[in-house]
Amino acid sequence: MAKKPRVVILGAGFGGLWAARKLASADVDVLIIDKNNYHTFLPLLYQVAAAELEPERIAQPVRYLIRDQANLNFQMGAITAINPAEKTVAVDGESVGYDYLIVALGSTTAFFGVPGAEEHCFTLKSIDEAIEMRNHILRKIEAAANEPDPAKQKQMLTFAIVGGGATGVEYAGALAELIYQPLERDYPRLSLNKLARVILIEAGSQLLNGIDNGSYTAERLTKIGVDVRLNTKVESVEAGRINLADGEQILTDTAVWAAGIQGQPVVKSAGVGLTRGSQFEVLETLQSQDYPEMFVVGDLIRFMQDGKPLINTAQVAMQSGEVAAENVMAMINSKPLESFRYYDKGMMATIGRNAAVANIGGRHFTGFFAWLIWLFIHLFFLIGFRNRLGVLTNWAWNYLFYERVVRLIMPLDSSKE
Ligand SMILES: Cc1cc2nc3c(=O)[nH]c(=O)nc-3n(C[C@H](O)[C@H](O)[C@H](O)COP(=O)(O)OP(=O)(O)OC[C@H]3O[C@@H](n4cnc5c(N)ncnc54)[C@H](O)[C@@H]3O)c2cc1C
Repeated sequence: MAKKPRVVILGAGFGGLWAARKLASADVDVLIIDKNNYHTFLPLLYQVAAAELEPERIAQPVRYLIRDQANLNFQMGAITAINPAEKTVAVDGESVGYDYLIVALGSTTAFFGVPGAEEHCFTLKSIDEAIEMRNHILRKIEAAANEPDPAKQKQMLTFAIVGGGATGVEYAGALAELIYQPLERDYPRLSLNKLARVILIEAGSQLLNGIDNGSYTAERLTKIGVDVRLNTKVESVEAGRINLADGEQILTDTAVWAAGIQGQPVVKSAGVGLTRGSQFEVLETLQSQDYPEMFVVGDLIRFMQDGKPLINTAQVAMQSGEVAAENVMAMINSKPLESFRYYDKGMMATIGRNAAVANIGGRHFTGFFAWLIWLFIHLFFLIGFRNRLGVLTNWAWNYLFYERVVRLIMPLDSSKE
C-alpha cells in the first residue's frame, strides 16, 4: 500500500487546530507539533491575568481534541528550526520530515525598540504569562498592605498598561474592576479606591482603533477608574518606572506591554524573506513564495486584502488555517488551489462590566447589547462544554456578587522579581 502524504502542522493555536480539523478523515497522515500539550483560547487570557478565570478554563489538551480522528497525531515539543529546503523541521533539536508543512506558530510581543521594555514589562501572550501577572498583582497589593512608606506604597499600587488596542483596553477594564471592587473589600484598611491607580497609555489618539471610532471606550474606562492617557508615547522603561516622551515619569512596579505583535523568532530559521515584523508575505494561496509545499497561516502572515494588510485575529487564523488545509489536499489531488479571502465576521472588545464595542456586518454597537454579543460569541467559540459551563458559572458569580473567584497567589515561586 502506498504511503499516505505526511502533513506536519506547527502550532496547535487557532490556525493549526482549524487546519487539522479540516484534514480530519482526509487521506493524509497529520502530525501537529506544539510546545504546550494544550490549545489556548487567547481572547480570554486577560481574564486569567485579572483573577477572573482559572487557567484551565481557557485551555484544552490537544490530544483530547483530536482523539476521535485516526489520521491526526500530536507531538509535544518546541520547534527549534524550519528547513524547507530539506523538508524538515527540528523539534527540540530532532529532525522531523514532512511532505507538506503548515506553519501556524503565531506571534510574540513587539517592543518597537523601546529601551528597557522587553526587560521590565510583563506581557500577555500565554497562560504562563497570565498566571505570572495575576500573581504579581496580587502580591503587590498584599505587600502594599504592610508598606509604611507612602511613596513605596504608591509605586506598588500603580499599574500601567501600554497599548490601547483590544488587549490593553480589556485588561485595563478588568484590572480596574478587580482592584476597585472585590480587592477594595478584601483590604478595608488599604483604601484601594483612593490609593491604587490603573493607567492606560496609548501613543495614538484613539483607543480600540478599527473597532471604536469615537470616544466611547475612553469615556467608559475613565468612568470605572482607569487613567486613560492618549497621544502619550513611552520613551523607555526602567526597573520601577516608565519614562514618557513628554518628560513625565510614572513610578510603578507593574508595567504591562500590550502593544504590537511580531512573528515567532524561530521562523527566521526558514531562510526565506520576512517582513520587519518577522511575518511571511505569502502567495494568495497561503504558500510560501519560495517553497510551494510550505503554507503559512494566522499571526505569521502579512496578507494584503483590498489594498490593506489584514489585522491578525483569531478569525483570520481559523479561516487561513482551513484554506491552507484545503490547498494541501488540492495539491495532493492535482486540483487548482484556492485563493485566501478573509470573510470579516466582526470585531469586538469588552470594556469592563456591561460595556463593549462591536462592529458586526457593517453595524456599530456599544454598551450592554454589544457586551451581550461579546459574551455569547466568546462562549460559542470556547472549545469544550465543560469549559463553557465553568466560564459561564464564573461570569455569573462575578456579575451577581461583584466578586472574583481566583484571587490565589499560586504557585508560590512564580514572581518575575
Ligand atoms: C491576550 C490576547 C487577546 C486576544 N484577543 C483576541 C480577540 O478577542 N479576538 C480575536 O480575534 N483575536 C484575539 N487575539 C489574537 C488571536 O488570539 C491571534 O490572532 C490568534 O491566536 C492567532 O492564531 P495562530 O494560530 O496564528 O497563533 P496562536 O493561536 O498563538 O497559536 C500558536 C501556537 O504555536 C505554539 N508555538 C509557538 N512557538 C512555538 C515553538 N517554537 N514550538 C512549538 N510550538 C510553538 C504555541 O504554543 C501556540 O499553541 C488575542 C491575542 C492575545 C494574545
